[in-house]
Amino acid sequence: MDQHASVVAVDLGGTTIKAARIDQQGGVEETLRCPTPVQQGPQAVVDAVTAAAGALTRVDTKAVGICAPGLVNSTTGIVHFAPNLGFRDVALARAVQEQLTVPVTLQHDVRAACLAELRLGNAAGIDEVLVVVLGTGVAAGIVTAGKIVHGAQGIAGEFGHIPVFADGEPCACGQQGCVEAYAAAGALVRRYREAGGTADGAADVVAQLGSHEAADRVWTEGMNALGRALVTSTVLLDHQLIVLAGGMTGAGNHLLEPVRRTLQDGLAWRSAPSVRISPLGASAGLFGAALHALDTFEPAGSTAHWHRHRLAALPRIS
Ligand SMILES: [Zn+2]
Repeated sequence: MDQHASVVAVDLGGTTIKAARIDQQGGVEETLRCPTPVQQGPQAVVDAVTAAAGALTRVDTKAVGICAPGLVNSTTGIVHFAPNLGFRDVALARAVQEQLTVPVTLQHDVRAACLAELRLGNAAGIDEVLVVVLGTGVAAGIVTAGKIVHGAQGIAGEFGHIPVFADGEPCACGQQGCVEAYAAAGALVRRYREAGGTADGAADVVAQLGSHEAADRVWTEGMNALGRALVTSTVLLDHQLIVLAGGMTGAGNHLLEPVRRTLQDGLAWRSAPSVRISPLGASAGLFGAALHALDTFEPAGSTAHWHRHRLAALPRIS
């Protein structure tokens, strides 16, 4: 990018739209966030994304990068299916681009977070990585030979729906015993409440560890489910590094220690890959969307120095 160029990133979530304008050094110039108007229908959501991107776009803005959940085709810019957004076959990139005067790209939110982790986070320079995003749900970005895996249908990385307990709890996906039915923030809260606890988020369950037996049991089962799925993934793909990302990483060592232990215990004949927590927090998707847009439209512009601004920028976005 030239001296004063910028890129606008938009992270479209089921609850919140987050956006940022990022300068050519990777520094965050301005951010905004607003609720996602899912109840008003898909056109209202598209309009809200356009308004957020438009509000941050300046004459020097080279591109807009959007990331979104669901079944996303990053080549065509279409969200084929995203129940949390009420989307079915929405040509999001084209719709936003028609309203703005800059080119627009679309990427899957977890693969965007994975890209940011590869360029700016703990996975920089590592070719065999699994980035597990732990939030309301659970999903993963898979990196092999330094490349993010997309899969035959573009839906690789549905790590949350690896079944880990035979005849286990029903999952929203229709299977039983999935990782997500135990280890996602939503599942932990639901299971803790069913056991008589009070919690609005996973942090409330963590706060009760050591003082409420039900919290200990529900958390242990969640970490056990996560560790088992990581065993499966490691045996299959031989990761060098596993990065845990997303909102649940606030649990810190309550998350890291049992996951490392379960993973090592489950691997009888080989060593376990390292497990680390992402430094990017809730901003990984935004940075990844920006990087994807620049890779597409400004491939000659180096983003190698962005990491220098990463930590200073984070508190302003998340
Ligand atoms: Zn499932």
